[in-house]
Amino acid sequence: MTKPASPQFATPAPRGLCTDCGVSRMADPSACGKACQFIKPDYPAAEAAIHGRPAQSDGDEQFFGVTQAMYRAALIPARDGAQWTGLTTRFAERLLETGAVDAVLTMVPDDADKWRPRPAIITKAADMKHARGMRMGYAPLLALLEPAHAAGHRKIAVIGIPCQIYALRALEADLGFERIYVIGTPCSDNTTTENFHSFLARLTDAPETVTYLEFRADYHVELRFTDGTQRLIPFLKLPLSDLPADFFPTTCRTCVDYTNRLADITVGYMAGEGDQWLIVRNDRGAEMLASLGDEVTLAPPGSRGKRAGSVKGFVENTRLAAGGLPLRRMPSWLRGIMGWLMPRIGPRGVEFARARVEMKAAETILHLRREEPAKIKNMVPKHIWNLARPYGLTPEPDEQVKED
Ligand SMILES: Cc1cc2nc3c(=O)[nH]c(=O)nc-3n(C[C@H](O)[C@H](O)[C@H](O)COP(=O)(O)OP(=O)(O)OC[C@H]3O[C@@H](n4cnc5c(N)ncnc54)[C@H](O)[C@@H]3O)c2cc1C
Ligand code: SF4
Ligand code: SF4
Repeated sequence: MTKPASPQFATPAPRGLCTDCGVSRMADPSACGKACQFIKPDYPAAEAAIHGRPAQSDGDEQFFGVTQAMYRAALIPARDGAQWTGLTTRFAERLLETGAVDAVLTMVPDDADKWRPRPAIITKAADMKHARGMRMGYAPLLALLEPAHAAGHRKIAVIGIPCQIYALRALEADLGFERIYVIGTPCSDNTTTENFHSFLARLTDAPETVTYLEFRADYHVELRFTDGTQRLIPFLKLPLSDLPADFFPTTCRTCVDYTNRLADITVGYMAGEGDQWLIVRNDRGAEMLASLGDEVTLAPPGSRGKRAGSVKGFVENTRLAAGGLPLRRMPSWLRGIMGWLMPRIGPRGVEFARARVEMKAAETILHLRREEPAKIKNMVPKHIWNLARPYGLTPEPDEQVKED
């Protein structure tokens, strides 16, 4: 079976904060002004339009967005080549099988570089297997919308990361599709595919033999190799302080949506304690989950430990790094002990997910203050300030839009 075709796109003019979601490559590139997450995102209005109401400002919705149901989940059996168990691609495959959609817009690996994402329109359920797995980098997913429409597809599914899904939702009503199912994954710490290759080369002498990499919720990076072996590296032993300061682009250090708040269903792993983590946000998300019947095991997600200390330490380190000061390096013997202790005493399950979301909120504010202070007022939504407040991060008068 041949791999789904992946169209070629012209390179657009460079923009400020931009992850090349594809809008600038559409017929009207000025749509970026309306669609871009990095200008003036309005989550409460978008949530009300998509999910029927904005997220609550207390309880778990303040962390994860509008939630109809949340689960620890696994697809049985897990699919070969999937990043976790393959729920994300299976939802889309099922939509194609049942005729609920005629096409799925997603990423497949580049022919020449398996770590580079390439946008593809998939119309056969059997081809969804080519999309499985995570790739690092950016590719213009939404530039597929116009070709998909021109090909006659009117009911589609889109699988995307949060900055792509924000833009999709902003334009959705004007695109001329009858139905768009939106399957989102969480996302953080993305970088260019080139930077990712240099990271891999710091982890192993044979980076070309790595077939899989994941930052797991048990504080380890998992690497798998072509010979079938696996290696786990504790987070604290990663060579992060050796990376160049611009390794993670400003976009990914300052984006304001970790959990893909505007997807119909979010499929991640953060609160899954080794399984996957599902957030069903609306009836369309519930419909996708129901369509898999007993192929999916579902359980309430667990939650253990206390996050405050870990988040506080992270915020302090980020403050130093964002202020241009070198991070204090932990002696390697201590890193070994911490690497052993953290999976045992650190926050787990939903508490781990809350911790990561708070860390990302603090990062957004600290990095924007240093690198793009003029953008804070419009770009940082209220939910981010609410998450960062317990860690001493509150808006200055010129960092907040005045409420009427
Ligand atoms: C850069 C990045 C960072 C992530 N960070 C987190 C995180 O911090 N916490 C968390 O819970 N989950 C994160 N995820 C999601 C996670 O890696 C899994 O994709 C998710 O758990 C789904 O697993 P699965 O087995 O269901 O996916 P699969 O069935 O294997 O499907 C994966 C899907 O992701 C798409 N995809 C792969 N790479 C990209 C890319 N670069 N851009 C856009 N789409 C892509 C594929 O096309 C495919 O449709 C991240 C994903 C990416 C791409
Ligand atoms: S909308 Fe997309 S393409 Fe346009 S500036 Fe934003 S991220 Fe870049
Ligand atoms: S971290 Fe944020 S800005 Fe970067 S690719 Fe992921 S969703 Fe987009």
